[in-house]
Amino acid sequence: MQQGIDTVGQRTSGFACPPTGMFVGGEWREARANASLPVLNPATGEVIATVADADVEDATDVLDAATAAFPHWSATSPRRRAALLHEAFMAVRDRAEEFATLITMEMGKPLAESRAEVNYAADFLRWYSEEAVRITGTFRTAPDGSSRHLTLSQPVGPCLLVTPWNFPLAMITRKVAPALAAGCTVILKPAEETPLSALKFAHVLAEAGLPAGVVNVLNTGRPGPVVEAILRDPRMRKLSFTGSTEVGRRLLTLAAPGVLRTSMELGGNAPFIVFRDADVDAAIEGAVAAKLRNGGQSCVAANRFIVADSIASEFIDGLAERLRAQIVGPGDDPRSTLGPLINERQRDRAVGLVDDAVSHGAEPVVHHDAAGPGDAFLKPVLLDRVPPSAEIARQEIFGPVATVYRFSNEQEGLALANATESGLAGYVYTRDLNRAIRAIEAMECGMVGVNRGHVSDASAPFGGAKQSGLGREGSEIGIQEYLETKYASISAT
Ligand code: NAD
Repeated sequence: MQQGIDTVGQRTSGFACPPTGMFVGGEWREARANASLPVLNPATGEVIATVADADVEDATDVLDAATAAFPHWSATSPRRRAALLHEAFMAVRDRAEEFATLITMEMGKPLAESRAEVNYAADFLRWYSEEAVRITGTFRTAPDGSSRHLTLSQPVGPCLLVTPWNFPLAMITRKVAPALAAGCTVILKPAEETPLSALKFAHVLAEAGLPAGVVNVLNTGRPGPVVEAILRDPRMRKLSFTGSTEVGRRLLTLAAPGVLRTSMELGGNAPFIVFRDADVDAAIEGAVAAKLRNGGQSCVAANRFIVADSIASEFIDGLAERLRAQIVGPGDDPRSTLGPLINERQRDRAVGLVDDAVSHGAEPVVHHDAAGPGDAFLKPVLLDRVPPSAEIARQEIFGPVATVYRFSNEQEGLALANATESGLAGYVYTRDLNRAIRAIEAMECGMVGVNRGHVSDASAPFGGAKQSGLGREGSEIGIQEYLETKYASISAT
């Protein structure tokens, strides 16, 4: 074990399991074939629940339900939709501890981080409860005076929402809240690793009084055929996806025949630039947050630390100290600061990227052979002087592995930052305002953290450039993804 990196033992605790069926048209039921899907605790590998495993026939049922509920829900007054979303916000906040426990059990992150996720997730419900009544249109006199232009925003219709495992609740509310605020009905397909948070959320929505069929949830171990069946149905109007770029690309092709509207929140490869005039202590603090949040399993995780030569040693020494101080262990142990990765496969993938980088000449600063207390654990790693030829420079790491690339001038640093097909988040540390503005403008990404390692906020537009996605979630922009613009030309002669 690397000296200084502590680990704690395995521990599990009880939790209140939500309904485990499919949620269709306001009813809980088993999948037609009675199949079920195990849910594992990543810290122990134990099965903690089984949930209904839907197939293609079940997909037709959720489509029927979402389609049937649409006329009534889209005609429900904005004030009523807002009130229901606010009710859901209060209910999630009231049950924050139950949600946090569930997230830790099925996804692994430390409880403190699960609590933070619940707050973030609830914020989307509050924000869009406030936005539901602000959907507007315009009225204009045509330039030649002969007619009037009336524009209005209408809900697009039934939507399919496909979400990943890394934020099992927040990635759901970030889509469901704007969709419902806009007047859309939804089919939610959560990641197979983390179905329980989604099911609990559906339960809370039903208790809050959401009409039957407005939100439907199906879990499946065969996402390919099930999602394809839904996307091929002409009643479907919109796909909103968060996940890997690889699956996103595939879904875009499936959405093409029906010319479905799509929102894509895909993978990142975030640069974290530390210029020579940065406050190095603040940069280390931000680096720890941007790298280790969610064990590095975040689409906005800092993937590449791009550091000015003159302060590189100071930054690396400080970051190494912080990485060594992490306590790796089960998320339900209050001593743990870093939980397991989602599964052994992800851990092995991250280890493989580290090994490849070292074989290409990267210099290990914090490195170890021993893993952690279980199969999915990985202790933090820090690699210096990573060559751009290493696979780790191009791929999203999705683990607690920090890689350092050094540069000698501003242009070189920015060029390194942009040397990726991804463009989700980026981070910049500098005390020079002009340099900060130049960097914000030059960076090819959707979000920039300036002197902070955090960009996510329900009131801000979240999303990526380049191959990191299409569209934005959050803020007043996020609801537009679920609205269609209609224009009426009215004779005025
Ligand atoms: P993933 O792409 O493997 O899975 C995401 C979802 O797609 C899951 O619900 C999964 O069941 C489904 N899916 C998988 N294969 C499918 C197929 N062939 N057809 C239809 N659906 C399919 O991603 P993941 O491993 O769950 O999540 C990690 C990825 O998500 C990372 O790349 C991360 O960057 C990205 N992510 C992006 C954002 C963002 O906002 N940009 C946020 C969180 C995560």
